[in-house]
Amino acid sequence: MKVAFVTLGCRVNQYETEAMAEKFIKEGYQVVTHSNAADVYVINTCTVTNMGDRKSRQMISKVKKLNGEAIIAVVGCYSQVASNKISKIDGVDVILGTKNKGQIVYFVNRAMNEKKQIIAVKDVFTDKAFEELNIEEYQDKTRAFLKIQDGCNRFCSYCLIPYARGGVCSKEPEKVLEEVKKLADHGFKEIILSGIHTASYGVDIKGNYNLVSLLEEIDKIQGINRVRIGSIDPTFFTEGVIERISSLKKLCPHFHLSLQSGCDETLERMNRKYTSEEYKNIVRDLRNSIKDVSITTDVIAGFPGETDEEFNITYNFLKKIKLSKMHIFKYSPREGTKAAEMKNQVDGNTKEKRSKALIELNNGLEREFNSRFIGTKAEVLYEDVFKEDNNLYEGYTPNYIKVVSRSNKNLCSKIENTKLLEIEDEYLTGEIIN
Ligand code: SF4
Repeated sequence: MKVAFVTLGCRVNQYETEAMAEKFIKEGYQVVTHSNAADVYVINTCTVTNMGDRKSRQMISKVKKLNGEAIIAVVGCYSQVASNKISKIDGVDVILGTKNKGQIVYFVNRAMNEKKQIIAVKDVFTDKAFEELNIEEYQDKTRAFLKIQDGCNRFCSYCLIPYARGGVCSKEPEKVLEEVKKLADHGFKEIILSGIHTASYGVDIKGNYNLVSLLEEIDKIQGINRVRIGSIDPTFFTEGVIERISSLKKLCPHFHLSLQSGCDETLERMNRKYTSEEYKNIVRDLRNSIKDVSITTDVIAGFPGETDEEFNITYNFLKKIKLSKMHIFKYSPREGTKAAEMKNQVDGNTKEKRSKALIELNNGLEREFNSRFIGTKAEVLYEDVFKEDNNLYEGYTPNYIKVVSRSNKNLCSKIENTKLLEIEDEYLTGEIIN
């Protein structure tokens, strides 16, 4: 039997797809790519934008055409919030939401045997337990994603995720540490702690255990060289937190702090929980305490009601604080959110113009940040060959600068002391120091 996966959306979905694939392999399935004919297709959906919904629906029809007899299972955020709609799409046999992914094989077998559609979507607001969905057989031995938390309590006005994933639930610290040890034994050098709202890790655990407590314990585990945190809410970095994390040896000095807007009025409409001044102070404190720290961000262009003046405030704010990389997104209304109902939606041309201006600003700032490191040395963790040239390898410095170096020996999964030489488009060239 063959199973194929389609994964839309974020890192958490990618992690969960890998874990589901393992469950099928254990039952004797062969995993094939989704452009091939398979007996079972699992579509792991995303609902972060209307586009995510549309793509999810398109993928269902696409795989249906590849094998009309196949079992199609739709799981994830979109099926959590729109199970009714999905159940009416021709050919869908199994619908799970964001919970129950660990039982995917069981539900697929049931649909096969009972020859009827199965809907097993749990209520994410009553079922608050963290679903253990571990990956045991890792293919790649360089970086491992480790999901430590699910859900979000923030309710930003443009986001549907809290409705799809429910409130915060954390993986028990003992289980996280066990997994980190296992990954170290398997030879992984770097671990990326990920979740839907990682900064909230621990709010559902008794006592004062939080993400910093977890990082401090991971720091002591032998074998792992680097720990990264995926995207993190800026408000996590209080003075006390910065002081504690600045003494950690393995935590990489790279933080992705989603800003979304540099204008306080826009931030308020977004229901973000900080002001631009607070964000600026967090960036300042991180830079003062952590050497060569890289701070990257996400920005939304054309949020409802964003006037030219508000946009200019955001633009000038970003120009001033000079982050090392910015991901720019044009606002796209998400049905079912407050922002989608707001008056003064920004027209497409204006969004395009603003997004272009921010992308240009980013290109200059990214180059400026990377240039600072020309002529310095850094420990680079090489991950793969670059552009299929077997003598060129790409990897990342602890502060997430991409480096490409030439070498006759295989550098994959190795940490090498590297001299940073020249700037290319979005990376630096390097030379291995013997
Ligand atoms: S913090 Fe805001 S944007 Fe992020 S998942 Fe929660 S509600 Fe969505």
